[in-house]
Amino acid sequence: MHEISLVRSLVRQVDQIATDHDANADAVQDITIEIGPLSGVEPELVRMAYDQLCNQERRPPATLTIELSSLQVSCLDCESDTELQDFTFRCGQCHSGRVRVISGDEFRLLSITFEEGATLA
Ligand SMILES: [Zn+2]
Repeated sequence: MHEISLVRSLVRQVDQIATDHDANADAVQDITIEIGPLSGVEPELVRMAYDQLCNQERRPPATLTIELSSLQVSCLDCESDTELQDFTFRCGQCHSGRVRVISGDEFRLLSITFEEGATLA
C-alpha cells in the first residue's frame, strides 16, 4: 500500500515546516490534507497509515483532517468549468469530450495548526 510512503513524506513535510517556524513538531495539533478522486489514494488507508506511523514513531497524534476535493474539468470547446459527479469526462454544458482536468488529482498538505492556534498553509 503506497499510502504509507505518502503519509511518511507528508509527516516529514510537516516536521520541516514546524522546524522552519521554530515550532516543535509536538505542538502540531491538526494536519489538514486534500485528496482528489483521481489521486488513486484511499482516504481510509491514509488514515490507517497515519495512525500506524504515529504509533511506530511514538508521535503525539495530531488530528488528521482529510478534505476531499471534487473532480473538475475545463472544456476546450465552450470554455466552461464543470464539476463532475462521475468519471464520464464530458463537459457539463455542451457535453464535449474535449476536456482538461483542472482539479481532482491532488494529494497535498493544506494546512497545519499549532497549539498556539497559529495556522500555517
Ligand atoms: Zn463545453
